[in-house]
Amino acid sequence: MNPNQTVEDESQPSITAMTRRIQRLSIHLTPLPLFQPSPQLNMLTCAKANKLEFDKGSLSSYMRGKYRESQEKVLEFFKSRPYLQTPIEISMNEHRELCMRQLMALVREAKIKPFRYIVEDPAKYFAIAEAVGNIDISLGIKLGVHCSLWGGSVLNLGTKKHRDKYFDGIDNLDYLGCFAMTELHHGELCFHCGLQTIATFDRITDEFIIDTPNDGAIKWWIGNAAVHGKFATVFAKLILTTHDSKGDSDMGVHGFIVPIRDLKTHQTLPGIEIHDCGHKIGLNGVDNGALRFCSVRIPRDNLLNRFGDVSRDGKYTSSLPTINKRFAAMLGELVGGRVGLASSSVGFLKIAVTIAVRYSLLRQQFGPPKQPEVSILDYQSHQHKLMPMLASTYAFHFATRDLVDKYSEIKKTHNEQLVGDVHALSAGLKSYVTSYTAKSLSTCREACGGHGYAAVNRLGSLRNDHDIFQTFEGDNTVLLQQVAGDLLKQYKDKFQGGPLSVTWNYLRESMNTYLSQPNPVTARWESADHLRDPKFQLDAFRYRTSRLLQSAVARLRKHSKTHGSFGAWNRCLNHLLTLAESFIESVILAKFIEAVQNCPDASSRAALKLVCDLYALDRIWNDIGTYRNVDYVAPNKAKAIHKLTEYLSFQVRNIAGELVDAFDLPPYVTRAPLAMKSEAYAQYTQLVGF
Ligand SMILES: Cc1cc2nc3c(=O)[nH]c(=O)nc-3n(C[C@H](O)[C@H](O)[C@H](O)COP(=O)(O)OP(=O)(O)OC[C@H]3O[C@@H](n4cnc5c(N)ncnc54)[C@H](O)[C@@H]3O)c2cc1C
Repeated sequence: MNPNQTVEDESQPSITAMTRRIQRLSIHLTPLPLFQPSPQLNMLTCAKANKLEFDKGSLSSYMRGKYRESQEKVLEFFKSRPYLQTPIEISMNEHRELCMRQLMALVREAKIKPFRYIVEDPAKYFAIAEAVGNIDISLGIKLGVHCSLWGGSVLNLGTKKHRDKYFDGIDNLDYLGCFAMTELHHGELCFHCGLQTIATFDRITDEFIIDTPNDGAIKWWIGNAAVHGKFATVFAKLILTTHDSKGDSDMGVHGFIVPIRDLKTHQTLPGIEIHDCGHKIGLNGVDNGALRFCSVRIPRDNLLNRFGDVSRDGKYTSSLPTINKRFAAMLGELVGGRVGLASSSVGFLKIAVTIAVRYSLLRQQFGPPKQPEVSILDYQSHQHKLMPMLASTYAFHFATRDLVDKYSEIKKTHNEQLVGDVHALSAGLKSYVTSYTAKSLSTCREACGGHGYAAVNRLGSLRNDHDIFQTFEGDNTVLLQQVAGDLLKQYKDKFQGGPLSVTWNYLRESMNTYLSQPNPVTARWESADHLRDPKFQLDAFRYRTSRLLQSAVARLRKHSKTHGSFGAWNRCLNHLLTLAESFIESVILAKFIEAVQNCPDASSRAALKLVCDLYALDRIWNDIGTYRNVDYVAPNKAKAIHKLTEYLSFQVRNIAGELVDAFDLPPYVTRAPLAMKSEAYAQYTQLVGF
């Protein structure tokens, strides 16, 4: 007992404790009160010098997507309904049910129709998906599985008869669905080599029979399957029985619509066994399940027949001659999911960077002797952790926005050249951005010290929920290999005079320049003007990519003679991954430079230029060994790059508060107490019951 407590107080502790507990729970359930954006924190001590002044409003409106109002509508809807907000402490089953209620409310009450937007305006769909993910990442993924994966497979792999039959049910959530590709023994991207589920055509009954031939073929991790899904697009090998000496013919993997639960009773349908994949380290609002099929019969019409069809008499037709071509066409139609993951991942990075930067400006620790403490963002080590990350967030913003625009364009125009570009870019950006964000979420947690570990500050849930972005919709290591494969194909095409994709156009003009010996004079240039020249920066990125590409070709040729193509690829795998990352970095930089040049307001342009220079030089410095090895950069230039990078990092620190404000994230999105600027501590003490 507290020695100062009086006798009367003794009857009170339980009431006080109860009141405090209720207060605490209500804070968890009801969002923290929203503050009007407070004036920028005062710049502290050493960071005042040479602060770049810029018009934050103009930068915000340049960054602000065209669909900000639609996003705000989503956020307002949830903000005004506390019972639909995900509390911090919640069990898996409650979380799943809440997520389902959130999705229903979004579509049926708020009348927001994400599935419709996939068809009418894909960019709007991605914006809505990002906002929904800001409510709860589980909700964003549940929506993505239903609309983009299940709905997208019906739209893109099916034909008119499928759209006519399923569109309304998918749109209004009556037909909640799953996308069942992964099997226990094989992940999403090796389905051409390993998927075992079979769909055998029965000519007598005009049906397909879906079977799981062994335990390794059980569909695993399938989102919406454990509890809520009514249908699944099941990926299976299409088998035609010829009843002659030829035996069965495997026509390759196709998608089939399989009802899994009764539309009225919600009972699992005969022949289907569903199990729950259980508690996960994140995304527990999504009900992932495992599906086994035992002679499940579905009508022939349920084959998603855009790339291959079976007639009533069992004849197979396709405009694409080989299993591999059909596989590639099918995969190509499923890139939308990756575009969405890349753009949402940048959204989460913005939230984490905003929380970490705002808190780091506010938090003060040791200063010079007998002088006031300094903001922790004044420590060089802290700047090194957060400022290149802030610059990367800006860089990724523009690169993913361009990807979304390109994706929307191919959906409208079906421009073949652009389609190839979007495939490689979506694989590359999804893997590069999600890997970067995953690491950064940990860094942001650490940059906020102990308070970063409090669940209410969101960094833990962001980190755990986002982590799997690196794996699903194609494991990042596997996707980067697709990018490398595409680059090798482009390289071959170039030397055979074929067309190059839009993003690779620079090879046409300058491959030879990039591959010639570095110029010993420019290798010594070290002035800030030169190092901050976008031409120097982009040339350096592209030089590295071109060299990696050329040396990969030479190594693959050499090894394939003795080890065959698989062995050669495997011996060069790390090299190929570095090549893919280098390429993606050059694409990101090119888009950032373009965005700086197109920015209409001069002061915002200057701020963006500063951030872009930091992005470019930090990357060059990170890989300085490569540049030094080939004398692209002489020792004096390497030193100058390092010094300038530190200087730019310091300059960006001076405007870091404004730069995160310019992301223009609504307060509801950054609702962690640590992101509340000067009110952070008040929020925090209130939260623990003071
Ligand atoms: C929460 C969650 C939700 C999911 N939702 C769905 C869903 O709705 N529908 C669906 O169909 N699937 C879903 N998945 C499955 C997901 O797509 C797969 O987990 C993913 O494709 C990776 O496959 P895998 O798990 O078999 O990993 P593996 O492919 O076995 O990978 C394991 C490790 O091996 C490495 N590796 C694998 N192949 C190579 C290679 N060729 N070269 C170098 N390294 C390699 C990978 O980098 C990885 O580190 C989900 C998974 C999770 C966890």
